[in-house]
Amino acid sequence: MNNRPQQAPASYLRGIGVSPGIAVATAVLYRSRIMNPPTVTIGDDEAEAEWERLEAAKAAARKQLAELRERLGAYAQAGEAGIIDGHIMVVDDEVLVEECRKEIFELHHNAEWATRNVANKFIAQFNDADDALFRERADDIADVSRRILRNLMGIKDELPGQWDRPCVVVAENLTPSETLALPRDVVKAVVLDRGSLTSHAALVARAIGIPAVFGLGDVSRAAVSGQQIAVDGGKGLVLLNPGEADLARLLGLAERRREILASLKPLRDEPATTPDGFRVRLLANIENADDLAPLDEHGAEGIGLFRTEYLWLASGRPVSEEEQVAAYRAAIDAMGGRPVVIRAYDLGGDKFMGGVGLGAGEKNSFLGLRSLRYLLKNEDVLKMQFRAILRAGAADILVPMVTELTELKRTRRILEDCVRDLSAAGTPCRMPKLGVMIEVPSAALIAPFMMKHADFVSIGSNDLTQYTMAADRTNPLVSHLYQPAHPSVLRLIKMSADAAHAASVPLCLCGEMAANPVLAVLLLGMRFDSLSMAASAIPVVKALVRGVPVADAEKLTQAALAAGSSSTVIELSRGFLARYVPDLLTI
Ligand code: PEP
Ligand code: MG
Repeated sequence: MNNRPQQAPASYLRGIGVSPGIAVATAVLYRSRIMNPPTVTIGDDEAEAEWERLEAAKAAARKQLAELRERLGAYAQAGEAGIIDGHIMVVDDEVLVEECRKEIFELHHNAEWATRNVANKFIAQFNDADDALFRERADDIADVSRRILRNLMGIKDELPGQWDRPCVVVAENLTPSETLALPRDVVKAVVLDRGSLTSHAALVARAIGIPAVFGLGDVSRAAVSGQQIAVDGGKGLVLLNPGEADLARLLGLAERRREILASLKPLRDEPATTPDGFRVRLLANIENADDLAPLDEHGAEGIGLFRTEYLWLASGRPVSEEEQVAAYRAAIDAMGGRPVVIRAYDLGGDKFMGGVGLGAGEKNSFLGLRSLRYLLKNEDVLKMQFRAILRAGAADILVPMVTELTELKRTRRILEDCVRDLSAAGTPCRMPKLGVMIEVPSAALIAPFMMKHADFVSIGSNDLTQYTMAADRTNPLVSHLYQPAHPSVLRLIKMSADAAHAASVPLCLCGEMAANPVLAVLLLGMRFDSLSMAASAIPVVKALVRGVPVADAEKLTQAALAAGSSSTVIELSRGFLARYVPDLLTI
């Protein structure tokens, strides 16, 4: 008889790859410890002391969060440190503080009870919201209140001290600070039931360079602590109980990936020019000034997209004109003469902050008062931002989510007014270049008209994909339909590119497509002047450009445009890369 324990069959799960990289390790199921705080009714004379106890726990939380922020700051890539600022603000949120005061002084609840009640009340309210960002706010409050409770109860940091071996963390969801507190030396990957590409935990996972796959549905129920689990963060694949063959393949890939990335480092100061002499400028997307540090390391030739709404989102409040000037100036100074494109606030959709956009009241916020629509309804916000950009120095301005021509014309007039008013008030400034984002199908379909009113164009392929495919980019239930390689999306991009070329308007693309060699090669085939992406992707895309003659990429793109499905496009493109730059398929 064979007494060997039976190996459970392998199972493959597909989710949203939110942070690239390959890892194989033991699963550790992480469930936030369920807090049973003591609930004690206190006397009138004890209320003041109880309040002080709560104040002390909050002071400790502020200190811990400041330390966490510093730790993250050292390797932040995308403004993630701002998430922690958001948490610090939750600690001192006036409404929460007032509710706790009532609990202690009027209801005579002890500090733990008060904290739990107030947190639960607001978490329930935010969780009920339609808007993803509101729901993330609920996670923030849960995160902060657990921290305060731990401090009140004298419990040390919640995260697993017992983890002493390499592991893959499996959870239903993780709050940002839980993600941050993961011991980096042992945690090799994170896989979650929930979460999306834009969730806080995704930003943090990318910042600290841990492969991550989110939106897996029920991985936390399917996985068992102690079993082996393999994660391919780039492809969004999770493999429970991988067999020997899968394991060998994945470990080999991981090693190969490390070697290839190391071999690209010397390209940093080389131009992104194809073997037949076509030059593409490779720019970086940033969310705030924290992201500036790694730009030079990766050889960014400028900033192609400054997502300014993150300044607002990270601090949880409107950003003053002076704060904006400082942030924009920091970006301009860091680039030292290289181009900087600052995008007007793209608030709304999944980037919602209380009071901005109709947000919680909108049944379908991606189709609502998002972005430029919000700004044109709130001209004072737009004007303040324009003034701040003009005062900061030489930067170009990009207008998001333009749907029709009148919006672009009106935006230009508002900008001209700002230039005139500022100059009249003694701050002489020039009219900056004004670029249009094409990320709504209507704008792509009338691209030749858009070009008459734009100094440059930048395609937002993330939104162009969701609006063309009618698939919410944050919803894991329809992520199979969110296909940037779909020929319908490619045709809209091609129409826009043709219009830009015909009008000699500089052409950029700043969506995630630009960072993926399988899709970026199609953009090369449309002769984009520049591509803007997460700085860490620049070396890979540079290797692509330097390895592929543009004339051949054009032929590939023609074939892709004539295809009927994403799978055909991807197959064509992968076959092409396998011939010209096979290494890049490993990444
Ligand atoms: C896009 O939509 O492709 C884009 C770059 O903008 P964002 O991802 O910020 O919506
Ligand atoms: Mg967009």
